[in-house]
Amino acid sequence: MRTVAVIGAGASGMMAALTAAENKENRVLLFERQQRAGRKLMATGNGRCNLSNTELTIQNYHGADPSFASFALEAFPPEKALAFFGSLGLLTVREPSGRVYPLSDSANSVVDVLRFACLCAGVELLAACPVRSVRREGDRFRLAAEEQSFLADKVIVACGGLAGGKLGGVSDGYELLRSLGHTRTPLAPALVQVTTDPEYPRALKGVRADAELKISCEGKQLAVSRGELQFTEKGLSGPVTFEVSRAVSSLGGKPAAAQIDLLPDYTEQTVLAKLEEKASRFGAIPAEELFTGMLHNRLGKMLLKYAGLRSQKQLSELSKEELASAAAVAKDFRLRIKGTEGFESAQVTAGGIRTEEFDPRTLESRIVPGLFACGEVLDIDGDCGGYNLQWAWASGRLAGRLGG
Ligand SMILES: Cc1cc2nc3c(=O)[nH]c(=O)nc-3n(C[C@H](O)[C@H](O)[C@H](O)COP(=O)(O)OP(=O)(O)OC[C@H]3O[C@@H](n4cnc5c(N)ncnc54)[C@H](O)[C@@H]3O)c2cc1C
Repeated sequence: MRTVAVIGAGASGMMAALTAAENKENRVLLFERQQRAGRKLMATGNGRCNLSNTELTIQNYHGADPSFASFALEAFPPEKALAFFGSLGLLTVREPSGRVYPLSDSANSVVDVLRFACLCAGVELLAACPVRSVRREGDRFRLAAEEQSFLADKVIVACGGLAGGKLGGVSDGYELLRSLGHTRTPLAPALVQVTTDPEYPRALKGVRADAELKISCEGKQLAVSRGELQFTEKGLSGPVTFEVSRAVSSLGGKPAAAQIDLLPDYTEQTVLAKLEEKASRFGAIPAEELFTGMLHNRLGKMLLKYAGLRSQKQLSELSKEELASAAAVAKDFRLRIKGTEGFESAQVTAGGIRTEEFDPRTLESRIVPGLFACGEVLDIDGDCGGYNLQWAWASGRLAGRLGG
């Protein structure tokens, strides 16, 4: 019997533990800092858990060398992950975008099937038991956790990254691996809210819109995304913002702007024609209602303020130039970018333990034989849409094979 210690009972750790336990030669200890397994997992996808994406390609992944993730993702692609979850009793649904959710629409279902499977597979879960250190002892490992120490033949580090601090994002994984000779790239919050000049967003807090969001800096377009945008107290949120947040993180203090197209399915000429028609047909209506029926009311009124139009007028009193400037701001509402929110509100950590220090075919350390790592602690992060959890499952599955 050999002892396998998995550090971290999150997404990748539970998958690694279950996989290791499939080999009856293994005794599997699963260490978890928090009171219970899968705490962050329960908060994923706004409590719905977007657990995978069937449209996945390697272009959805980032890091110094995203191709590192290919082997794991090809060996355990979304179809296999979903079949695996199906075998644990989880029913899932796929949205047209490829995003996969549990049929129950509850992230707890995902955590529960993993927990029960671990229990039935004989995985020994040690909750509220943070691993403080790991060191070599002959050809085994000595783990210090709380007041006890444990000997293991193989160790899998699945401690996750810094994102989502309240849900368990900590730097333990980086530190444990660093103590064993590994190094990491710089870390940055990713899939995170973008902070802007707050004046306009503050008044729009909570308003959502289907929009195209561009990030531009020194006349160059750095990123563009289309989808749901949400205004917050300090700036922008929602999937479309998360998609471009990586470009914002990499600005390094350079001045940049968020350019928002609030009517992406219409050209500026079409918008202007619609505004002109409204002004001529409903001239007696207050000018502040110009965008009513086209945009969220608060958003429409805010755009007029932003365009400098006097809302005390009636629609019939707006000049051609005023209508043209209203159409222009609906297509290009600009906010000065300040930066991003921190790790606390980020969904994932960009950067991590250098992947060249691990074998992509096994996820075993090239520095310390018998040591493995999986999930977000490594320098791989995915786009918004289920890609991060798919990496957690695929890398956990591969690490749990322990090179076999
Ligand atoms: C709010 C939020 C929503 C998200 N939504 C989605 C989504 O819908 N789809 C998606 O694909 N991704 C989503 N993500 C990202 C996804 O949750 C992570 O990328 C994924 O959980 C990473 O898996 P992991 O196993 O590497 O780390 P985690 O799931 O974070 O697990 C790591 C575990 O290790 C434990 N740990 C840390 N240090 C120690 C130690 N010293 N000893 C013992 N245990 C330790 C932690 O407590 C934690 O339980 C979201 C993230 C957040 C924060």
